[in-house]
Amino acid sequence: MPHFFNHIMVREEQDIPNWILDESGRFTLKSAKIFFLEPGVPCGWGKLIWSSSISPSKTLVLWKDFHERLPTDQHIQNKGLHICSMCTLCEKHEESIQHLFFECSNALHIWSCVRQIFLTSQFPNKDDPLSFIKSDGSPLVKLIKLVVITFSIWMIWRIRNYARFQDKIEVSRDTSLIKYLTCLGGNLSKASMKNALLDFNVIQFFGINTRSGKFLCPIPVRWEFPSPD
Ligand SMILES: [Zn+2]
Repeated sequence: MPHFFNHIMVREEQDIPNWILDESGRFTLKSAKIFFLEPGVPCGWGKLIWSSSISPSKTLVLWKDFHERLPTDQHIQNKGLHICSMCTLCEKHEESIQHLFFECSNALHIWSCVRQIFLTSQFPNKDDPLSFIKSDGSPLVKLIKLVVITFSIWMIWRIRNYARFQDKIEVSRDTSLIKYLTCLGGNLSKASMKNALLDFNVIQFFGINTRSGKFLCPIPVRWEFPSPD
């Protein structure tokens, strides 16, 4: 490959070290490590979505969704590939993250269930899950919100892939798998809960075991007539 080196100027002077990350110009592992450990762009939700109660493979789908890195038709088109786009699940719209996860009939059914459980009106678009997770609630309720969001996004993506690549047109509206996985995630958690109606509804709906340490036991108080004296 002689042409490959044509542009390199060869000097007769002695070679000198030229590693720009170290003052001496010499390569050191320490300088390389510091270079790669430098923080990137601050991300408000990076730490929020990773939890020991959720399998990393499920969270990775959510992470890609937030980064708009899932290979939907729209994403592939944005990369410059000219492909026809159609949502495999409803066959009525072009496939984008907004449509697949928030507008398609499957997604609408799942978010409708979530709205009923958590008494919220959110979820018309892709920016809502984060504000939903961060909104008020006990640590346990916030964790359950994260678990539900993560498993819901993962399941929609899984159903889409089954339909597209394995010809399994079983567009399931059954949310029992999400419920089951959320129950497992909640049982693994040590997050505390409050004596609030929302907490009670959530743990009851998902069948989460309430360990004694989680409860703040209410103290019944009753006023009584003073004694006749
Ligand atoms: Zn659709």
